[in-house]
Amino acid sequence: MPRLPLLFALLLLGGVSTVHAEGYIARLLDKPVPGGVAVVDLGAGAQAPRAKYQGKPVLVVHEEDKRWLAIVGIPLSVKPGPQRLEVEGAAGARTFQVGAKHYKEQRITLKNTRQVNPLPEDLKRIERELAEQTRAYRSFSAGTPSNLALDKPVNGPLSSPFGLRRFFNGEERNPHSGLDFAVPAGTPIKSPAAGKVILIGNYFFNGNTVFVDHGQGFISMFCHMSKIDVTLGQSLPRGGVVGRVGATGRATGPHMHWNVSLNDARVDPAIFIGAFKP
Ligand SMILES: [Zn+2]
Repeated sequence: MPRLPLLFALLLLGGVSTVHAEGYIARLLDKPVPGGVAVVDLGAGAQAPRAKYQGKPVLVVHEEDKRWLAIVGIPLSVKPGPQRLEVEGAAGARTFQVGAKHYKEQRITLKNTRQVNPLPEDLKRIERELAEQTRAYRSFSAGTPSNLALDKPVNGPLSSPFGLRRFFNGEERNPHSGLDFAVPAGTPIKSPAAGKVILIGNYFFNGNTVFVDHGQGFISMFCHMSKIDVTLGQSLPRGGVVGRVGATGRATGPHMHWNVSLNDARVDPAIFIGAFKP
């Protein structure tokens, strides 16, 4: 193994090693760019090591050959370059490299200008709703996700990709945090993996919204729904219906918007359905 001397050299230099994972999960999910995912090999061992990135706990799974892998969500705001993953115990910290990715721009015209420049009372509501949703994204439950290769929540063509830099009526707002599917209103939205409903809301921007926790901070969010078919705390099987496609909140028409989050970082859902474009 020509890699070992390098590994030991790195350990001697800084106590931080860079180890690339190479199995099925890495081939599927390792897209280390801003808004992407890094799959980091944590070595073998009887117990799952605990890992943290930017102070937040990270999903750890094991590959068939019993190697532990950290599945790290990389926020869109991260700059290309080395990133540090804290790992508890003898395994020690790891570094992984984040590459560059260019995200396109999208210009949207909204008739409801209040959705572009909200009123002061709207801002209070938005702040409260943001805090509620952030709490949900930061929750970290035990258990291993039923599947890392996710099912498409609806059958239909992809429309707006993740990460688009968005301008509403000419004014730049937050980048697109999820992936859109062009499907008619009323289409059932199915949970892409088993999970538990951890938040339901009717929000200023997102409209009717459901958060599904797939385990260890791996969370799906569906919004703009016309109807919600689940209750808070409900367990869902893989493929369980969450709600129906709609156009509630800030939407120009019916579509399915899906966020995927890992360690409180919104990442490109296309990665998990084999539709990632570098
Ligand atoms: Zn969207």
